[in-house]
Amino acid sequence: MGCGPNITYIHIMTKAAAIWFYRQRCPYSQPQMKPRVRAREQHCDAQELFSMIPCRVLRRGLPEGPPQAAQEGLQATLEAELKDERLYSQGHERPEGDFCLICTLPIPLPMYEHSAFAVCCMKRICYGCAMAVGRRGMLNCPFCRTPHSDSKNEADALAMVQKRVEKKDSEAIFSLGNKYYHGGEPGLQKDIQKAVVLREEAAELGSLEALCNLGVAYYHGKGVDKDKAKGYSYSTVKVAMQGHVESRYNLGVIETEHGNHYRAVRHILISAKVGHKASLDTIKRAFMGGHAMKEQYAKTLKGYQDAVEEMKSHDRDEAKRRFAKIFGRN
Ligand SMILES: [Zn+2]
Ligand SMILES: [Zn+2]
Repeated sequence: MGCGPNITYIHIMTKAAAIWFYRQRCPYSQPQMKPRVRAREQHCDAQELFSMIPCRVLRRGLPEGPPQAAQEGLQATLEAELKDERLYSQGHERPEGDFCLICTLPIPLPMYEHSAFAVCCMKRICYGCAMAVGRRGMLNCPFCRTPHSDSKNEADALAMVQKRVEKKDSEAIFSLGNKYYHGGEPGLQKDIQKAVVLREEAAELGSLEALCNLGVAYYHGKGVDKDKAKGYSYSTVKVAMQGHVESRYNLGVIETEHGNHYRAVRHILISAKVGHKASLDTIKRAFMGGHAMKEQYAKTLKGYQDAVEEMKSHDRDEAKRRFAKIFGRN
């Protein structure tokens, strides 16, 4: 079937819609197909459609007025296409909070294994810089000058976090929420409901970690009523599109669960290229299983290696060696 019979259903379209429609419906836009004479006529009609702004589409003998369902279907498809375009084209750069405030380099992933928060002011620095600061004999927080010894006691550290919570620091609120979620800290009882309220508040104030966490919680029903649509929404529009790496990876996992391998690979390519090892491993498995192309894997591997290289520094390498020596890990 050519494009002729379909285009009669549409009266006025935007140029973008016409281009999409033409490419989707017209088999003669495929170079390998040779148009026959009658079909060529329809093909020309489609080209006319392609060039009109806005496009008044041909009507050929059919009753006036397009079928409502066809128009609504097309509208929905176009909206979904535009939504996807935004989803896949945004969030390729890591967010501001993923960079060390001293050396300004992106922090290796997962960040909790390579960086720490100064609880006095809730600022994140990489372990390389933390070690370098200590080596220079600085015993105070490099940002707010609070003595390190003050934050070593758990109760004092909790008091510092609570002080930041009063000042509406989103990371402090998220941190306190985590403490309530896991429990076990002196002077603080495990309270899941309170943890959720705090995470919601942190998310509203802009904490991407809190948003990601809530997305996972709603999707799996952890501590909240299970709501997959809400969980998915938290992990897409609000977080992955802002560059949050774990959320982008989570989207890939969700699409894989639904058997949407093409969509899954598109998400995970993005997270792998900023240095997320689990994503790289997933793309490798997808390639082995025939769900990703060799070129995609090769390009992703190169992107991943470049990102890892960019995150290296002398101080970070040294901190890594020291940790390996102390904790026996790489
Ligand atoms: Zn640093
Ligand atoms: Zn501080």
